[in-house]
Amino acid sequence: MRRGKAIPVPVANARDYQRKRVYTWEDETLRPTWESPISELEAGFLVRFYCERHRVGYPRIRFRSSGRNAWSCRGSAELVLPPWAMVDVVLYHELAHWIIGDQARYPGLDDSHGPIWCSLYAEILATGLARSRSSIVAEMIDSGIEVADPL
Ligand SMILES: [Zn+2]
Repeated sequence: MRRGKAIPVPVANARDYQRKRVYTWEDETLRPTWESPISELEAGFLVRFYCERHRVGYPRIRFRSSGRNAWSCRGSAELVLPPWAMVDVVLYHELAHWIIGDQARYPGLDDSHGPIWCSLYAEILATGLARSRSSIVAEMIDSGIEVADPL
């Protein structure tokens, strides 16, 4: 039997030192609430709502029929969402990347999953999940995640 190739493990990226902690926190605290998928229409509405609130341009949403990753891409100005990512908190995660990546609005502040991004993500989650920002930030800090002051 032929074995598959080993998947290369990314070298630790000092600039994105919190990514794994953020993913773990999401899995432990947010994933259990992933009960109601959102429609393409709702995704479009949420993108417009948060982009207008932060005064950044809209990305186009590309809905994929399959795939393992969701991502935002400034180059092609799109959010790419496979079916598993059609959940509000995944969209909020990608929107936080999109919004903080707007160099005209937030020059030099894109820190991947760093404290500034976490601050924005907590704000978006608080609005989207109708929770207090401070309780979300407290959970993040309890999980060893650094969060900057509100933007
Ligand atoms: Zn991310």
